[in-house]
Amino acid sequence: MDNELTLDDLPDNVFVALGRRGMEGIPLKECTYACDGKELTLISVKKEPPRIKGKSLEVVVEYWLVKCNKCHRQFTIRQRVRYVDGKRYDTMVSIIDDKGNDLGWLGSY
Ligand SMILES: [Zn+2]
Repeated sequence: MDNELTLDDLPDNVFVALGRRGMEGIPLKECTYACDGKELTLISVKKEPPRIKGKSLEVVVEYWLVKCNKCHRQFTIRQRVRYVDGKRYDTMVSIIDDKGNDLGWLGSY
């Protein structure tokens, strides 16, 4: 776990392409359940692999375990980050609920 990370290290919105209508922003830091909670607490972050080597294309999967401050249920923000030559190239975000079900792709940034 990387103790230096906070929720501020995640963007407020991720984006879904709408074809010619451009991109729609979806708030990332909201409860994934039906409670409408808009504040989350970060519990832990796990990265696989934990470090990149900085060479050509690398993929890191990050698991951000969070808890809703309103309904107190946990879920995981999973990010599949592609790095090219050590720089973040793109990130695909999906959500996993507290029972381990993959709720699907949310968006990218
Ligand atoms: Zn909630």
